[in-house]
Amino acid sequence: MSGILTYALHYEGAFNKNSLGAVSEGAKLAAELGGEAAVVVVGGDDLTDEMCAGLGSYGAAKVYRARAPEGLGAPVVDVMAKIFADGDYGYALFGGGLLGFEIGAGLTARLHAGVTMEVTQVKAQDGKLVAVRPILQDSAIVDVEYVSEPGIIIGRLNAFEISQSGGGPAEVVDVDVTLEEHSTKATMVQRGEQRGADVNIEDADLLVAGGRGLGKAEGFELCEELATALGGTVAATRAVVDAGWYPYAAQIGQTGKTVAPKLYLAAGISGAIQHKVGMQASENIVAINKDPNAPIFEFSDLGIVGDLNKILPKLTEAVKAKKGG
Ligand SMILES: Cc1cc2nc3c(=O)[nH]c(=O)nc-3n(C[C@H](O)[C@H](O)[C@H](O)COP(=O)(O)OP(=O)(O)OC[C@H]3O[C@@H](n4cnc5c(N)ncnc54)[C@H](O)[C@@H]3O)c2cc1C
Repeated sequence: MSGILTYALHYEGAFNKNSLGAVSEGAKLAAELGGEAAVVVVGGDDLTDEMCAGLGSYGAAKVYRARAPEGLGAPVVDVMAKIFADGDYGYALFGGGLLGFEIGAGLTARLHAGVTMEVTQVKAQDGKLVAVRPILQDSAIVDVEYVSEPGIIIGRLNAFEISQSGGGPAEVVDVDVTLEEHSTKATMVQRGEQRGADVNIEDADLLVAGGRGLGKAEGFELCEELATALGGTVAATRAVVDAGWYPYAAQIGQTGKTVAPKLYLAAGISGAIQHKVGMQASENIVAINKDPNAPIFEFSDLGIVGDLNKILPKLTEAVKAKKGG
């Protein structure tokens, strides 16, 4: 079995970026294994033939469309389990994100499969897939092999690059699935964007970026207050975006946005290489970190060693005082 099945999430008529990365990666790997690249999509009448077939341009050969509630994990598990039972698929690949984790975990249990999470790269070796993932707070990388199929691979959010292979329209196949009783117990009440999802960090002259050193989601209030006083915008590291503390739209770095503001103020950010590549072109870099050996100080114009909980409010006060209120 060498086919690869991915799941693509959609909202308001468009597939999300993270899912398109998974579809592209699945297509590339399926070609290397000599199997079929297929995608599962779930939803209502908004899921048109044209939209589904369009996934062919990301390399999908077939799109299974099921009429079931979108945005919930359990119905998708039912659909994917049926396709695995009827088809010739060896792996399921997810782009990560909360829903990807939920569906991937559910499918793993249903299929009694092996699973690897937080995957940053997948290799095709000797007719099988090998998942690569960082461990021990990203200080080491391991290869994970699957001794039997099916294998479930759940990527890190946006770890897989979107690539438009220029393929023709995918074949759209409607699947009839009777949902398990437990899969009908939850309904979607409301879908919407996260707070700050419409931030435009790329055009901002002044960025106050927060990292894991903020301690919790509410810690971002300190960054927001300073950014407001300065007339700037708040940005974030991937660690805090993955933790759900701040929206992806504000993420800077290798798998986020690249910025070059006049002032980049980093609070509680260690300065990992994947973050640095997204902000190193900033005109002035100021970093606040309690660890004097934090890597961010190596490429900062001004470094402040200390507790951000004390320094950020003082800075906000000072900026307000200078601006006269
Ligand atoms: C394939 C891949 C892609 C990635 N892409 C990105 C990306 O696009 N963007 C990105 O940012 N990361 C990315 N990462 C993750 C990256 O490797 C780091 O894990 C991440 O940047 C760390 O985020 P952080 O600095 O917020 O957290 P940490 O590394 O945990 O650093 C927190 C810092 O806060 C300091 N601190 C703690 N408490 C306080 C306090 N009270 N006052 C002051 N300082 C304090 C600590 O000393 C520490 O230096 C990627 C990783 C991989 C493998």
